[in-house]
Amino acid sequence: MLCQTVKKDKECLFWSAGGCAQETGKCHIVDEKCEGCARVEEWPTGKYCATYAHPENQWDLGVCNMATHIKAEAAAEARFVNPLKASKRAGGRR
Ligand code: SF4
Repeated sequence: MLCQTVKKDKECLFWSAGGCAQETGKCHIVDEKCEGCARVEEWPTGKYCATYAHPENQWDLGVCNMATHIKAEAAAEARFVNPLKASKRAGGRR
């Protein structure tokens, strides 16, 4: 159905006869780290992500997995490395 809040008349899976199914009842504006991403959409109500309703949450564990403005190497560096698995991997090469 069509959104009737911040992205008025945009087709949205979260909108139903009962309103927006998001916890806060509408999408959140993009995080400052989203600047430069091709998924940022400008609406009269502000800038919103075309993919995620809560863009700030996508940066909690490092780099947003859908960001178009971050190079793959940077995203790989930011990825969490499990020290136990890394130790086992290193041990197997002896
Ligand atoms: S895809 Fe990620 S980086 Fe891009 S606007 Fe959405 S939350 Fe921000």
